[in-house]
Amino acid sequence: MSNAYQKARFLKSVPEPRQAPPDVGLEVAFAGRSNAGKSSALNVITGQKSLARTSKTPGRTRQINFFAIDDMRRLVDLPGYGFARVSRQIKEDWQRHISRYLETRQSLVGVILLMDIRHPMKEFDRQVLGWCHLAGLPAHVLLTKSDKLKRGPAKAALLSVRQQLAALHPDASIQLFSALKKTGTDEAILVLNHWFGLAD
Ligand code: GDP
Repeated sequence: MSNAYQKARFLKSVPEPRQAPPDVGLEVAFAGRSNAGKSSALNVITGQKSLARTSKTPGRTRQINFFAIDDMRRLVDLPGYGFARVSRQIKEDWQRHISRYLETRQSLVGVILLMDIRHPMKEFDRQVLGWCHLAGLPAHVLLTKSDKLKRGPAKAALLSVRQQLAALHPDASIQLFSALKKTGTDEAILVLNHWFGLAD
C-alpha cells in the first residue's frame, strides 16, 4: 500500500489554536490521553522513528503539533492529559483549546482517537467524541497496545467499546492497533487515505 505519510515533516508547534497554520487544505487530528500510545502510532504510521518526539520535549506537551504531508495535507498531534494528575487550570485550558479547534477548524476532516485497550472510554475520550459528534466530524478509534491482550479478550474489548461508542458518536469507527507489532497499520492508513482523498 502506498503510504504518503512517510513524507510527513514537522511544521509547527502552537500553544493555542488561533496560532495554527493557515486553515486551508485538509487536516486529520490525533487525540489521546497521555500514555495512550499516540506518539508511537504516529511514528509507525509515518514510518519515522522519532517524528512525534517533538511533541514530547518539555514545554511542548501542551502544544498542538502540525506535520505537513504535502502542500495541502497535515497531520495534527493534539495535546493529551489524563495519565498523571493535572491541575484544574490545565484541564480547563485543554477543554477550551481543543473544543474550539475541533469546532472551528475548517480544514479538519477527521479525528483519530487513541485509547489504551486496557483503559478505554475515559472522560477525556468521551469529551473528544462528544465534540466530534457535535461538530459533525468523523472519528476513528484506535484501541492501542492490543498486543497486551490475548486475541479473545482483545476482540471482547473491541466489541464492548464499539457498543459504547455508538451512544456517543453513532458514525464513529474502531479497530485494534499495536505499534509494537505494527498490527492495524494498514487499516488506519486506509481511513486516513479516505479522509484525505488519497488513493490506497
Ligand atoms: P503517548 O503519551 O500517547 O504519546 O504514548 P507513547 O507513544 O509515548 O507510549 C506510551 C507508552 O506505551 C510507552 O512506554 C510505549 O512504549 C508504550 N506503547 C506504545 N504503543 C505500544 C504498543 O503498541 N504496545 C505496547 N506493548 N506498548 C506500547
